[in-house]
Amino acid sequence: MDKRLPMLTIIVPCFNEEEVLPETIKQLTGLMNELCEEKLIGKHSRILFVDDGSTDRTWMMIAMESVRNQFVTGIKLARNVGHQKALLAGYLKAREKCDCAISIDADLQDDVGVIKEFMKNYHEGYEIVYGVRKRRDTDSFFKRTTAQGFYRMMKKLGIDLVYNHADFRLLSKRALDELARYPENNLFLRGILPLLGFRSTKVFYDRKERLAGKTKYPLRKMISFALDGLTSFSVRPIRFITILGIILFSVSILLGSFTIFNHAIFGLNGTVLSLWVLGSLQLIALGTVGEYIGKIFIEVKNRPKYAVEIDLFTKSMVERLDR
Ligand code: UDP
Ligand code: MG
Repeated sequence: MDKRLPMLTIIVPCFNEEEVLPETIKQLTGLMNELCEEKLIGKHSRILFVDDGSTDRTWMMIAMESVRNQFVTGIKLARNVGHQKALLAGYLKAREKCDCAISIDADLQDDVGVIKEFMKNYHEGYEIVYGVRKRRDTDSFFKRTTAQGFYRMMKKLGIDLVYNHADFRLLSKRALDELARYPENNLFLRGILPLLGFRSTKVFYDRKERLAGKTKYPLRKMISFALDGLTSFSVRPIRFITILGIILFSVSILLGSFTIFNHAIFGLNGTVLSLWVLGSLQLIALGTVGEYIGKIFIEVKNRPKYAVEIDLFTKSMVERLDR
């Protein structure tokens, strides 16, 4: 192979991951060495840890490791901005100097071993490689069923998602450049990527248990993530409200005549019940519309998504050029 070997950046967003980080560093470093030996990547490839405003020793560990490990580098965000934005920060940073980027969670739930497969696909000319979970045994019954319901609903709404794909994927430099053109604040990366439309493929793997530490996605965050995904990609929920309104209006006319009839004969009073039903429907409708208005509000302000406080990546690249 006489062509220049690609420079890979593995992006690892971290939020309070001190418990699992040493093992993550060990496994990823081992992998990088293997990939280099097999001539799948160039030796200037990097593991880019994105510290998403951790309050434990996460950043200290990254910074210290970067001194003694040629692969390890990192950026520190000024505060916690959430997984998706931290991931974007990593992508945009990597884009400055890489041929392809792979994102993976810090907790080693995703199979580090299949990254080799990702790289082989990249060499075959794929621009996007999706890591897809074969099974979800390790997730709780609740998480599994709600996630499944979510994918189904998104599909019904016409939003193209790769089933059972989370944020474990490879993006080529070209795909990264395209991604950078999406300005939205409300990030739902796995919905945006299929929109890019490059040549893509899937690699299947078994998702494991979190190696150490606790999940950073409690139920509250999961719900908000799902709602974001839904409302950032489809206006159908709003249309659904209109349709529901029309249906309910017809039903009320029918019910109205029925009630008048009922009232006259049996003396029943449907007023209280209908107040509750209509009142709650109106609340749902208002909430849905509000959800979109809130989104417009946030997008219009167009505030920066994150601030990089410390950037070891650029530094390590400059040093590399000096050498
Ligand atoms: N994460 C982050 N910022 C956050 C929450 C999570 O960077 O505000 C990172 C976290 O460190 C991990 C990844 O996102 O590397 C996925 O989080 P987690 O494993 O807790 O989610 P789960 O796998 O339970 O859905
Ligand atoms: Mg996890």
